[in-house]
Amino acid sequence: MERRNTKKIKAGSVFIGGDSPVTVQSMLNRPADDIDGSVRQAIELERAGCEIIRAAVPDKDAVRLIYELKKNLSVPVVADIHFDYRLALSSIDAGVDKIRINPGNIGSDDRVKAVAGACKVHGIPVRIGVNSGSVEKNILAKYGSPCAEALVESAMYHVSLLEKYDFDDIVISIKSSDVRTMIKAYRLASERCRYPLHLGVTEAGTYESAIVKSSIGIGSLLADGIGDTVRVSITDDPVREVEAAKSILRALSLGKPGPDIVSCPTCGRTKIGLISLAKEVESRLKNCEKPIKVAVMGCAVNGPGEAREADIGIAGGDGCALIFRHGEIICKVSEEEAVDRLVEEIDRL
Ligand code: SF4
Repeated sequence: MERRNTKKIKAGSVFIGGDSPVTVQSMLNRPADDIDGSVRQAIELERAGCEIIRAAVPDKDAVRLIYELKKNLSVPVVADIHFDYRLALSSIDAGVDKIRINPGNIGSDDRVKAVAGACKVHGIPVRIGVNSGSVEKNILAKYGSPCAEALVESAMYHVSLLEKYDFDDIVISIKSSDVRTMIKAYRLASERCRYPLHLGVTEAGTYESAIVKSSIGIGSLLADGIGDTVRVSITDDPVREVEAAKSILRALSLGKPGPDIVSCPTCGRTKIGLISLAKEVESRLKNCEKPIKVAVMGCAVNGPGEAREADIGIAGGDGCALIFRHGEIICKVSEEEAVDRLVEEIDRL
């Protein structure tokens, strides 16, 4: 898949844009003053594979969280700041790796200059994050609604404020809760500039709705080569955001390597507990980093053939299971032994 050629920027140890892999982000959702809980959650996110962690910095006290996160994490930390440019400067002093701020919301030119200058000195990029609710009044009046064109114009306005001070380590997000608007806006933005794009559908809802909207929105852009870093927004535990983002990337062969699990929907020919077997295989391979295709199929008649392109798999027999490799059966085991045997074979690959 050919990816759009964007400017490559660096947040801590992680590159975003250019030829770098698409990265997975998430955001802490503990109260900002719950430092211990936030650090615990950030560690869980890092363990789950989150590559960039964002934390809200709503006030001066919350800057302490940035210090604590930096002490406990190896992935980059992003400070999410609204309106108060001093919080951006304090977060930079605390060692933050990236700032999410909209320069048009922080007041006078001097403040924008101060933030751009401090970021430049410390090599810290800025993400400009526009969404339907943040579009400036004059732009809204021009377009009549927060349509894709309005969102992009708003993002470019914020970009111009940083460029004025010769600052261009910029990432842009243009999120909408409307999937079609979001897709159109990112496409327009990718035509208008070379800055890396942080993809997301905002306020995507609870788990199922968020997965569907994000898979369509983020997935269709990534399939077109647009997007450099992603956040799946879910009203839930942010670890689920990371898992969902990793699944979207894996479905498009992007991001970190790992197994692609294919399983059949089961039908009247299925004679084993395939649904639970498939779930067990998925859970056992959660941390596997082998770029393999693993099939979990319901029957021996069609399974190995239907999953011929799989590197390895299980096909259900009558009270037993067959392990197959590239469509060829290699052994017959009991249903209870099936997952252990499959994992053993995968370890050998
Ligand atoms: Fe049915 Fe077999 Fe196909 Fe699964 S692999 S859907 S059990 S025919």
